[in-house]
Amino acid sequence: MIPFDNTYARLPDRFYARLDPTPVAAPKLVRVNTMLARQLRIDPDWLATSDGVAVLAGNQVPAGAEPMALAYAGHQFGHFVPQLGDGRANLLGEVVGLDGIRRDIQLKGAGPTPFSRRGDGRAALGPVLREYLISEAMAALGVPTTRSLAAVTTGEPVRREALLPGAVLTRVAASHMRVGTFQYFAAQGDAAGVKLLADHAIARHYPDAAGAENPYLAFLSAVIARQADLVARWLLIGFIHGVMNTDNCSIAGETIDYGPCAFMDAYDPGTVFSSIDQHGRYAYGNQPRIVLWNLTRLAECLLPLLGDTEDGAKAALAGFAPAFEAAYFGGLRRKIGLQTERKGDNDLTQDLLKLMAEDGADFTLTFRTLCDAADGPTGEAAVGALFKDAGAYEAWAQRWRVRLAQETGSAMAMRAVNPAFIPRNHLVEAALAAAAERADFQPFETLLAVLSRPFQDDPNLERYATPPREEERVLQTFCGT
Ligand code: AMP
Ligand code: MG
Repeated sequence: MIPFDNTYARLPDRFYARLDPTPVAAPKLVRVNTMLARQLRIDPDWLATSDGVAVLAGNQVPAGAEPMALAYAGHQFGHFVPQLGDGRANLLGEVVGLDGIRRDIQLKGAGPTPFSRRGDGRAALGPVLREYLISEAMAALGVPTTRSLAAVTTGEPVRREALLPGAVLTRVAASHMRVGTFQYFAAQGDAAGVKLLADHAIARHYPDAAGAENPYLAFLSAVIARQADLVARWLLIGFIHGVMNTDNCSIAGETIDYGPCAFMDAYDPGTVFSSIDQHGRYAYGNQPRIVLWNLTRLAECLLPLLGDTEDGAKAALAGFAPAFEAAYFGGLRRKIGLQTERKGDNDLTQDLLKLMAEDGADFTLTFRTLCDAADGPTGEAAVGALFKDAGAYEAWAQRWRVRLAQETGSAMAMRAVNPAFIPRNHLVEAALAAAAERADFQPFETLLAVLSRPFQDDPNLERYATPPREEERVLQTFCGT
């Protein structure tokens, strides 16, 4: 019933540990992602049957699956851990979707593995729904990301600070190769392992690199380009990943491992939500620097494959800044309605961000109301109201209008890049609390529906588009692992 076609399982035994998911007491379906299932050639109605739910809970191993926990290492907050690995995830196998793209199907929270260390191998319902909501919101926002195919509750409690309902998320990813996967083999001096992994990654994600003069250098450059683009996209929607460890940095260039991630309300580049990020290493504005740091670790792993000198790797890494800047500044220009590029445009966008930071203006709402302002002066007051100093905004807006007059069709184009709806923390927390504390999944379902159409205004959904009131603000997020 799931058309598996596995390739990672053909790699040598030291890449993973084969084991079945651990069954749970009383699996119950929370949600199936119908559209995604169809794209993956899986019948969503079957997924919702008791057989399907048994598979999603790890109680039944479906035909064609080759369950395994993957080996990887990683730098966690800058400290290298030579062995992390899937401590609570089980890769069932791969499917090739209707788009011809191969994807992993993985159960997250499927029980202990040889990589679990002191963890219980399980996941709590709150964090599972959080990943479901935010990954699907990211997909709707057009950001490369892992997806969520289904969520089930297990009927078993998990012990965190309190006893919480347990759940399993079915995660779909272009692959689960991480920078940390390369580090795992490199740290053991397993050059053959690094090469096998690189060849696998090239075949799967960067086939063009195979034909290059130096395929491994082309591969490194291509990963760098995808990650530069990805982190620019994060910044352009106010996303903060929260745990950008090298094991959470995907070789395929997808956003992966949604833990204490969060969207910023008021614009402040220093914003940190994660309770475990005490020094702000993974603050909003620090993310590009950290991606480059992670990619530098990848380059180090690949050095033996790149020839004798470090020059190639250095040149590839030097490509990060221009790639990021082109994506980021280009994206910012489009956010204020500029399709063409002229001298002074970057000053214009930077000056707006500076004003927003000084005045604590809401990031998402500023750009969204700016779309109406682009239509004509009647929209202007709503933007000004977001700034403590409406006069300072006015002065900026005058410069903007002059520049905007040189463009056409701006408001419509702006509405396609500036979302009205993002997973605001207070809404996410409320939806998770209703589900975990009262088994009320309605707020989760409603929020999910709203977030699936982030660029469509809807006056009935005003409450989902506005920043939290002071007493609603969420100041900290937790990974809940
Ligand atoms: P994460 O913070 O989710 O990226 O996880 C970091 C590492 O901790 C990975 O090796 C995970 O597999 C492992 N891990 C996280 N939560 C658990 C858990 N509840 N049980 C076992 N391992 C876990
Ligand atoms: Mg992780």
